[in-house]
Amino acid sequence: MATSTRLLHHAYRPPAEFEAPAPGVHKASTVFFPNVAAMRARDWKDKSAYTYGLHGTPTTFTLEARIATLEGGTHCVLAPSGLSALALVDMAFLRAGDEVLLPDNAYGPGLSLAEVELARWGIAHRRYDPMRPQHLAELIGPATRLVWLEAAGSVTLEFPDIPALVAVVQAANAARAQCDPGARTIVSALDNTWGAGVAFAPFALGVDVSLQALTKYPSGGGDVLMGSVVTRDAGLHRQLLLTHMRLGLGVGANDAELVLRGLSSIALRYHAQDRATRALAGWMRQQAVVAQVFHPALPGSPGHAHWLRDASAAACLFSVVFQPHITPAQVDAFCDRLRLFRLGYSWAGPVSLCVPYDLSAMRTLPGPHPAALVRFAVGLEDVADLQADLAQALAGLS
Ligand SMILES: *Cc1c(COP(=O)(O)O)cnc(C)c1O
Repeated sequence: MATSTRLLHHAYRPPAEFEAPAPGVHKASTVFFPNVAAMRARDWKDKSAYTYGLHGTPTTFTLEARIATLEGGTHCVLAPSGLSALALVDMAFLRAGDEVLLPDNAYGPGLSLAEVELARWGIAHRRYDPMRPQHLAELIGPATRLVWLEAAGSVTLEFPDIPALVAVVQAANAARAQCDPGARTIVSALDNTWGAGVAFAPFALGVDVSLQALTKYPSGGGDVLMGSVVTRDAGLHRQLLLTHMRLGLGVGANDAELVLRGLSSIALRYHAQDRATRALAGWMRQQAVVAQVFHPALPGSPGHAHWLRDASAAACLFSVVFQPHITPAQVDAFCDRLRLFRLGYSWAGPVSLCVPYDLSAMRTLPGPHPAALVRFAVGLEDVADLQADLAQALAGLS
């Protein structure tokens, strides 16, 4: 045989027993089968065998098992970004004529997905006040099939009463089953990116599905995009898995490797960033020019009592509203003066970030919704250096 052929069909097989801290990085579109019978018999859905790169490799199966463990679930599917994981949940559980309910403070691109893409497929959506479970109860109708939850809320970090919201969904399902035992139930899905499986156990609070942008804490590097959808329910997982297959959602082995590498230190990073964030949020609240600081662990921040009851840690985010005499242009200039806090969106990485938001353009329920709010994401720099950076930028405001 020619060298080109011998290089491809080489007889050498490395010994099987290789163990090291990092799991191997297995790359494949093509997967080989020893014979036709195996080709026909292999099932990837229960993870008992490999059939095709999109259906899973040792690397992605390993990451899925670890993310399921992190969240206290039993099944996991991976998607190429947090947003694609949101879209997967929508597409797995909704069809034309259905309605999805989202919290008014949901992750913005997830809202826009419902407003534009789902609407094009004949799926309606409405936004509920996450701090009023009664409002969710009022909005649930016969077409409701999916209820999104987010804790804490995007940008304003209100911490909702998750068990109360889940109870509303469960009561609606019970009432529906009484009228028609075969009726499709409403799925409750939590965007758990903020809690990351560290701050609280999502399934202990009753949700059916927990989603994460692995882009944030599990990666921790600010250098990879990925999402996950975890359940404890085999039926829901199967729906997700089949939709996932038909949409062709896959993740690259090198990206899965990066997330596996970050995942080993997630608890250490989460708690270290939590400590630094509380210190900085508390310090900001003492500044005369600051009107309000949003952080669930601060007494007075919306939903603080729920956070205290249901969570044991808080993420690296806090948001600040300045006194009314500070103009949005001054707030922009404040952000531009920051040196260690870089301007950027994706958080939970090593570098601290800030983003100015205009809430009046983001919320639909009655306010107040300040036109200038700054969200900070605290990274892994020294807290005293970060505080000094905030102080020098604040000095320019007075
Ligand atoms: C970042 C984020 C997402 C989306 O994740 P990407 O990987 O950036 O698509 C979804 N939900 C929340 C709460 C997020 O913070």
